[in-house]
Amino acid sequence: MESTRIENTQMESSHSKETKRAAAWAELRERVRTCTRCGLATTRKSVVFGQGSMVTPLVFVGEGPGEDEDKQGLAFVGRSGQLLTKILTAGGISREDVFITNVVKCRPPGNRAPTLEEMMMCGDFLEAQILLLRPKIVVCLGNTPTKWILKTTEGITALRGRWFEWRGIEVFPMYHPSYLLRDESRRKGSPKDQTWGDIQALKERMEQYRQEGAEISHDGTGA
Ligand code: SF4
Repeated sequence: MESTRIENTQMESSHSKETKRAAAWAELRERVRTCTRCGLATTRKSVVFGQGSMVTPLVFVGEGPGEDEDKQGLAFVGRSGQLLTKILTAGGISREDVFITNVVKCRPPGNRAPTLEEMMMCGDFLEAQILLLRPKIVVCLGNTPTKWILKTTEGITALRGRWFEWRGIEVFPMYHPSYLLRDESRRKGSPKDQTWGDIQALKERMEQYRQEGAEISHDGTGA
């Protein structure tokens, strides 16, 4: 009887946490949708909040929406997005099982990189998204999200394929798919070849998390 009562209390507490999280997420989405904090609000067609799973161990962060994303209001749906889907598939990861977003939520005109000021205006939306999602791993795609999240001046070439930590979450920089589209080579050491290695490393890390989760459940000592 006592154990059933404790279980019921735990379920109610977890349900209440999820309800609060969903409410915070909806409020955040609305704040982003109506945001006019920086100049990009005057040139955008859509605000691109990001999309994907809300219960995901993996969040992918790009630089900002491009033309297709701006038109459709969705992250990574153009050529880069299609390549990202292929890369994920190569890692045995379904796109529906991850969350994908960008550092800035509105398209910088002409696909230029976002300015520091724009990132400073928009950055707390990204931070709030990540903290609400609480993934195991954040994958930074390219220079902009890597430098922004890790607060580094080092470039993606030096940082990709390495593991870092941000607020208790692992950070794994990889090349942006648009960079891979500009270099078709598959020779050893080429960006595509390195990305193949990176997605395999990501797959292995995810497998470790799965096994650790399974062991905890099996022992009955986990949440
Ligand atoms: S880029 Fe970010 S800060 Fe600027 S208007 Fe869009 S949502 Fe607001």
